[in-house]
Amino acid sequence: MKETTIIQGEFLWDGINEEVIPGGAVCIGNGKIQAVGTADEILRFPHNRELEFPGSTLMPGLIDSHTHLSMDAGLDNYLDHMSDPVAVLTLRAAAMMRKDLQSGVTTCRCCGDREFLDIACRNAVQHGEIPGPHLQVATRGIRAPHGHGFVGYPFEGTGQIRKAIRENAAAGADFIKIYITGTLRGERDLPSYLSYEEIKAAVEESHEAGLQITAHCVGGDGLDWALELGLDCLEHVYHIDDRQIEAFASSATRLVLTPGPMLSDERIKLLPEALIPGHIREKEEIRARMKAVIASGKFFAVGTDGNHGELFREVFYLVEMGATPLMALKAATLHGAIIGGIDKKTGSLEPGKEADLIIIEGNPLRDLSALKRIRSVWKSGRQQYVDR
Ligand SMILES: [Zn+2]
Repeated sequence: MKETTIIQGEFLWDGINEEVIPGGAVCIGNGKIQAVGTADEILRFPHNRELEFPGSTLMPGLIDSHTHLSMDAGLDNYLDHMSDPVAVLTLRAAAMMRKDLQSGVTTCRCCGDREFLDIACRNAVQHGEIPGPHLQVATRGIRAPHGHGFVGYPFEGTGQIRKAIRENAAAGADFIKIYITGTLRGERDLPSYLSYEEIKAAVEESHEAGLQITAHCVGGDGLDWALELGLDCLEHVYHIDDRQIEAFASSATRLVLTPGPMLSDERIKLLPEALIPGHIREKEEIRARMKAVIASGKFFAVGTDGNHGELFREVFYLVEMGATPLMALKAATLHGAIIGGIDKKTGSLEPGKEADLIIIEGNPLRDLSALKRIRSVWKSGRQQYVDR
């Protein structure tokens, strides 16, 4: 018999239901979830290993829906460090992936990196050469030459943009990322750095290649165009206005929120000096806009934007801004899988999905701080980390 493991906790949250299952258990074999239920039901399955975690909750592995593998938001001047030599960036990415796993993140959606290093990381993880979460990668972020995008590469005009998307697709990108706006309102009030025609070409070319397209986009005309042109997803939306929230709520375009970079004073201090006053000035306005978008009921996922190992902080911010604990936990699990188009594979504890799960001390639906107390992390049925 192949190895089949039953893991029991005090509770189980499957990533879908509003309540935990007391005495929940999961049966895993062949890297997949075989069955989910109460320990009484699950222990009837043939198995050759049993693990028990008293006082703990079994739940789906976390999904960081917006990160950059070689970005370490804990470094002083961390945006400038994105220009480090590629060997340094790649070694950093390997270290960041270990941190992700240890914090319960079993899938990362990587929204742009340097020199296709994210492809190398994804493949090395898939082949078992280095430890890391499942990765969905955008490769080169595409930005305008005069525009924002610390992790982007400049392309000019529809011809260059179409070519860049074809090259990203040929290199193995899982999705396409463009930079439409900057991050702060600043003095020019949110110009779109890409033209309407350029965004339109990017959407057509991505969809022609069978890839989803998302954008760094915080508001202004660019956000209106993104909705009109049918981008699959938008990242950040820090300055979305009320009219746009209404249009967004009824659109098919999805949403990834990243509160930490704007709300965390610790993190703002680590930005390049020139950016700090603007972040301090716009912080409360941005908090109000994110509250409004959460209140609209628009479904969303959440990401750290390079703050590896700290996804729990983003979940706390969501709740602070009005999300229910259930909504915030789904943002960090199932909703991330849906946005990435991988919800048939991961994101919840259901039979047939990859056995991506974490065991945390406490019940996160009652007390979110449980997310900080990681006991054990499993990816595709293999234990990646255990707290000893
Ligand atoms: Zn980012």
